[in-house]
Amino acid sequence: MDKAVQLTGLTRPEMLSFVETLGEPAYRGRQLFAALQNRRLRSFDDITDLPKDFRGQLNEIARAATLKIESRYVSDDGTRRYLMKTHDSLPVETVFIPEERRDTICFSSQSGCPLQCTFCLTAQLGLLRSLTAGEIVEQIQVALNDAYGVGVKPPRGTNLVAMGAGEPLLNLDQLLKALRVMADPQGMHIVPNRVTVSTAGVVPRILDLANTSDRPHLAISLAAPTDELRNELMPINKRWPLDELLSACKVFEKTLKPAERLTFEYVMLDGVNDSDEQARQLANLLNRHTIKSKVNLIPHNAADPLPYQPSSDERVDRFKNILESKGIHTYVRRPRGRDIFAACGQLAARQTTLNTRIQIGAN
Ligand code: SAH
Repeated sequence: MDKAVQLTGLTRPEMLSFVETLGEPAYRGRQLFAALQNRRLRSFDDITDLPKDFRGQLNEIARAATLKIESRYVSDDGTRRYLMKTHDSLPVETVFIPEERRDTICFSSQSGCPLQCTFCLTAQLGLLRSLTAGEIVEQIQVALNDAYGVGVKPPRGTNLVAMGAGEPLLNLDQLLKALRVMADPQGMHIVPNRVTVSTAGVVPRILDLANTSDRPHLAISLAAPTDELRNELMPINKRWPLDELLSACKVFEKTLKPAERLTFEYVMLDGVNDSDEQARQLANLLNRHTIKSKVNLIPHNAADPLPYQPSSDERVDRFKNILESKGIHTYVRRPRGRDIFAACGQLAARQTTLNTRIQIGAN
């Protein structure tokens, strides 16, 4: 990098130490933290309540923003996708999903992804690199500023899901740091209770997360009820097979709050993992491990060149009914933003030529 300090990734105490090293009083650190994290300003020059000399000094040695917005796509259903570039020109994608009672921001933990799930488009990029805490925080700021205006307090609650590009549990330290920064009441004040991290099943990190205080919620991507099929669809299963994965989930379950559930995500692939028999196998698997959980069925989002089609609505309903008849709470997730390549598994730095694309200048 660019040796400059990326200030969006600093916690408030770190910001105070940072300004101290510059010989500034602590209140300047609080001012700077609030400007970046609460007012979501992305340039030191906009922090006009700081002395001009200090702003000049900051411009020399630090950065208030590093992600550059390349394009923005708006779906018919109101979902927005941002394609950004890091300082070293790697793609970062974020999706803003407005709902009646809350907004959900789906952010990326890595540029690309090292896992090779056969149904996911992001896999085709490979891992470019893990994102820093600052780059994670910035994604949320960009989405909120675009949706509501710079620094405007969102009218609804904001939920975050680490379900964009990348495997969040392969970047757990930076992810948790970003969550600490965002939880600060003097900043965006988005607490871990509003955050869900989705994993393909990095067992040791699931156990670490279980031991983390103030942790986010956890979702596990299953996609198959047997090792045989899961090995094929999600090669990470060869390293941590279903039995190990569910044993880790059982440990995690012990840390759930009374109303909290572990979520299992199950992408529905036509003729591959959606039969009655597979529904029964899935129910038996979850019941055998007696985990307090719910299942989200996600209709597959097709994308060239992925070799799958989504299951029909009837199939999804029938699958759901079988799970429910065996006592498993099951929900069907409505895909959002498919038309702009913003839906699950479609983030692969695509530049679509649709007229929904709106070019915006650098930040
Ligand atoms: N690596 C993490 C987070 C990113 S994927 C994980 O695997 O959980 C987020 C969710 O999208 C996962 O549940 C994944 O199974 C699902 N998904 C991936 N590709 C998809 C596709 N093409 N259609 C629908 N869901 C998909």
